[in-house]
Amino acid sequence: RSEFMAVMSHEIRTPLNGVLGMADLLLQTTLSPSQKAYTETIVSSGDSLLAVINDILDLSKIEAGRVELDNVPFALAACIKNNIQLVGVNKSDDVSLSFSVDPGVPELICADKNRLSQILVNLLGNALKFTPSGYVKLHAFMDPHNDSVLHFSISDSGIGIRQEVLPHIFDSFSQADSTITRDFGGTGLGLAITKLLVTLMGGQVSVSSKAGKGSCFDFSINVAKVEPFGEEVENIDAESAMVVPEFRRESVRILVAEDNIVNQKVISKMLKNLHYEHDLAVNGVEAVAKSDKQNYDLILMDLQMPELSGLEAARRILATCGDDGNGKCCPVIVALTANVLEDDRVRCEQSGMSGFLAKPVKQKDLEDCLNRLLGASVKTEAPL
Ligand code: ADP
Repeated sequence: RSEFMAVMSHEIRTPLNGVLGMADLLLQTTLSPSQKAYTETIVSSGDSLLAVINDILDLSKIEAGRVELDNVPFALAACIKNNIQLVGVNKSDDVSLSFSVDPGVPELICADKNRLSQILVNLLGNALKFTPSGYVKLHAFMDPHNDSVLHFSISDSGIGIRQEVLPHIFDSFSQADSTITRDFGGTGLGLAITKLLVTLMGGQVSVSSKAGKGSCFDFSINVAKVEPFGEEVENIDAESAMVVPEFRRESVRILVAEDNIVNQKVISKMLKNLHYEHDLAVNGVEAVAKSDKQNYDLILMDLQMPELSGLEAARRILATCGDDGNGKCCPVIVALTANVLEDDRVRCEQSGMSGFLAKPVKQKDLEDCLNRLLGASVKTEAPL
């Protein structure tokens, strides 16, 4: 089933890249107020569809036991703060959003930071969604009897959940009230995923709630303590990238390898908007041939292409450059793909690619990726 889900996700993402990409471009043109509103509806409906696909894919991967935890040391308070900022972006002024970490919690803990963030975003997001006014609070504290168990409680003063619904609230596609859901949106999969993830991380999740008064979700995870400075700690600011200045963008040579005609148009227009020139290859063989003739700085590579896959094309291109090849400069290769599983990312990394952009891609994602990968290399070449 999880194989089937992966293929289905790819097949839905490819046309969705056309829909969302074109809508993203349309929003950058001059539109009347009603045209703008219609286009924004296309974008938000597309985003909702994408959220459902991502959730279903995630759920089936976790259920099939295909998710491995990536436990790394990190600063818990900074991680919580980032997630609070993320969910609080569009919060109403009538709701206060706050967090506290008990002094007994070690500064650095070892756990899967991304999966913990996914749980926090989901529970905090729900709390904000169902709290029209009042508060949403997060508290983190160590288990009084076991120093490798970390507890979180997320409480809100929102609409609450009726008692008869509570026992099923962590089931897939369970929504407490269909009229409420129609108002708020959502997939009904968030809590099912949360429960699976919490279990995977060695903990438990529970809820107490009173209709009209508010809800409190508690969960725990297993953590290992880390001595400060003992091990390499992830640097939160490491990702701050340099913006590639416009005068430099014109001289960056980019090749786009993409077989789908609509998606060729989407990526071409986005690059043009960002003031980058590019060449096009319609399959892997053409990508290899073009990169043989021209020195490209960067290649945006679709993975599933006729004649030769993007992975194989990347391997061949990278084998004929740098120290392994004839000494010619190697291009930076970025996968631009509707294959979004972790295995796909790993395969891209193994074939020597330096970046990964999941379809549907938005212009902003593309720009951030190009800044990150090209920003550092152009720094020294800027005129004084
Ligand atoms: P959804 O994407 O619909 O939010 P979830 O699985 O995350 O899916 O939540 C399932 C349902 O549980 C929601 O539709 C809502 O009815 C209810 N629910 C979840 N969290 C809260 C909360 N903090 N307050 C009130 N109801 C909630």
